[in-house]
Amino acid sequence: MSKELGFIGVGNMGLPMARRLIEAGFQLTIFDVRREPVQRLVQLGAKAASSPKEVADLCETVFLSLPTPSILKTVTFGPDGAAHGSRMKRYVDLSTTGPTASIAIGKELAEKKIVHMDSPVSGGVGGAEKGTLAVMVSGPKKDFDEIKPALEIIGKVFFIGDKPGLGQTMKLCNNMMSAAAMAITAEAVVMGVKAGLDPEVMVQVINAGSGANTAIRDKVPRSVIPRTFDYGFTNALMYKDVKLCMEEAEAIGAQMFVGAAVRSIWELTNSQMGGDKDLTSIFQVVEKWAGVEVKKVKK
Ligand code: NAD
Repeated sequence: MSKELGFIGVGNMGLPMARRLIEAGFQLTIFDVRREPVQRLVQLGAKAASSPKEVADLCETVFLSLPTPSILKTVTFGPDGAAHGSRMKRYVDLSTTGPTASIAIGKELAEKKIVHMDSPVSGGVGGAEKGTLAVMVSGPKKDFDEIKPALEIIGKVFFIGDKPGLGQTMKLCNNMMSAAAMAITAEAVVMGVKAGLDPEVMVQVINAGSGANTAIRDKVPRSVIPRTFDYGFTNALMYKDVKLCMEEAEAIGAQMFVGAAVRSIWELTNSQMGGDKDLTSIFQVVEKWAGVEVKKVKK
């Protein structure tokens, strides 16, 4: 594949993914509405574009890592949107935007002979930095083969299928499970602490036992017990993902009873703690009710 790539949206996830691509020898043309991450990547050798359209004027393949479906639509079809670029042939969405938006955008781009591909990722900021993300691609197989070398720089690549939206559906299933794990881990750990357990002992035992999950393995020891609440994924994004999953489930007639409870607790966390706060702050919502804090025990 060509070593020239466009990259739009260089936030918590986009920045480390873009950095890895630059370090692997790709020539990146980037755009973000924030100057700070753009400048950091320019210092590493990236070229800054003035709009999504300019990125798409200069690059055949454009990667995106954007927060929400509505921002994705503006970046794609707005007045300076990527769809108006003269060179772009392939639009690869690394964001979590759900199959409905993905299919709609793909249809509109097809009219301009631009191939749209789902390529959402999982594994957090740490995974983006280390290049160990799970990358879930759907779209035409020949385009997948073309972009695979670049995707392999950011993680383990899975071809989910050629049906539009499949990669996004895969990602929503994954994130619903991750959101449920985080919510129930907050409730169980707070309950244990209230009853007198040491949270560090809980982490060790549960990780050796059948309750193990990504929340108790990574998020609790890294960002809850030290009280930093800085894992790198916001409440707004988590609530968005859970909502998108429930909307899709309802649309296709799949039942998600536990999913409905998970949606409620993330809605509560989002409104009480704020959408810009880290997802580990769900612990503070549960702690407040119980009147305890999950923190290092002084011995
Ligand atoms: P983020 O908010 O840190 O990054 C998004 C970036 O998009 C920001 O730099 C922002 O300035 C930029 N942006 C916003 N509006 C824009 C516009 N109109 N034009 C250009 N740039 C614009 O979010 P993130 O955590 O990096 O997540 C990005 C996507 O990846 C989301 O869809 C999220 O659900 C998904 N995701 C995140 C994680 C994670 O752990 N953070 C993990 C997997 C998937």
